[in-house]
Amino acid sequence: MRVLLIAPPGGGKGTQATRIAGRYGITHISSGDLFRRHVAERTSEGEAVAGYVARGDLVPDDLALRMLRDPIVVANEAGGFVLDGFPRTVSQAEAAYEIARQLGVTVHAVLSFELPRDVALERLRGRGTDGGRADDTEEVIRHRLDVYARNTTALIDFYRTRGILHTIDARPPVHEVTSAVFTVLDEVDHPD
Ligand code: ADP
Repeated sequence: MRVLLIAPPGGGKGTQATRIAGRYGITHISSGDLFRRHVAERTSEGEAVAGYVARGDLVPDDLALRMLRDPIVVANEAGGFVLDGFPRTVSQAEAAYEIARQLGVTVHAVLSFELPRDVALERLRGRGTDGGRADDTEEVIRHRLDVYARNTTALIDFYRTRGILHTIDARPPVHEVTSAVFTVLDEVDHPD
């Protein structure tokens, strides 16, 4: 199975992606985790993306794609993937479509997690004070939410038009969101 997750910062996509990967036996690929790993390991790609990630700006498409392509191909060969954090823009979605076309595969479902901005902000403030990520400062959190809002309407339309978009209410407790996600994906996994 191949699934894409779209969610605002604080939307819980990392947590849900881990659970989806476990249930369906597919690989979890998180673009943010991948980039942070490169930054921590000081690879040349890590040096290139560090500034964008620290500011909460999107990494340029060519760089993001170069880093994600191999993990996607490998995961696809291993039975599928849940992609958390990519694509994030329509141009990335078009590039992802091109990769899928070359591999001769399609994406089965795109889940869009909906969460009001003030709730996302509260959640991320909590994470920041818990000694979380370096980009969980008030200023960068606000910027990440702005970047998300700016790019996501068109991205969601892109997938709605293709008939594979499912919206998920991300406000309930984590396990309830997981149930809603599994309900959607069980249908996708076993189409009539
Ligand atoms: P969040 O959704 O909470 O902001 P992520 O871990 O998904 O966190 O992403 C962290 C950062 O990594 C982003 O702010 C951005 O700098 C970079 N990033 C992640 N995914 C992408 C992507 N698909 N394209 C460009 N930049 C990305």
